[in-house]
Amino acid sequence: MEFKDIIVKLRRERGLSQDDLAARLYLTRQAISRWENGYAMPNVETLKALSTLFDVSINTLLGSPREPVCQCCGMPLTDADMARDPDHTVNEDYCRYCRVDGTVQYRTLDEMVDFLVKGHFIPGMSDEAAEAFYREQLPMLQYWREQEAQA
Ligand SMILES: [Zn+2]
Repeated sequence: MEFKDIIVKLRRERGLSQDDLAARLYLTRQAISRWENGYAMPNVETLKALSTLFDVSINTLLGSPREPVCQCCGMPLTDADMARDPDHTVNEDYCRYCRVDGTVQYRTLDEMVDFLVKGHFIPGMSDEAAEAFYREQLPMLQYWREQEAQA
């Protein structure tokens, strides 16, 4: 689905008219109408406001062009799994288990690997294979690259 179809769907699911949505965003009804007819797209600030208002990611608003994964544990992220920050924004970089109240819970790669291996999240994989897999994959994620850069 494209943005114009997604915005109509979300607005109707919430029982909002174009006027209602316009009022919440301090915009005109014509602006909403232009989006829904595919003549215009909201700017970045408005996309963020829509994301918070509808509690879905910007990725979802834009028709899911990417497949986000948590930048700490690597799990694929649905909107429901994404962390919510203290200001109620949807955090598209981390899952809600890794990032709690705006802070990532894991400080060291060892700690993260240990948690994932013990969790047996990959069916049928031995602990040794799982550990090797995570030690290879996790350092490529943004969070661990940043940790490495600071070390
Ligand atoms: Zn995570």
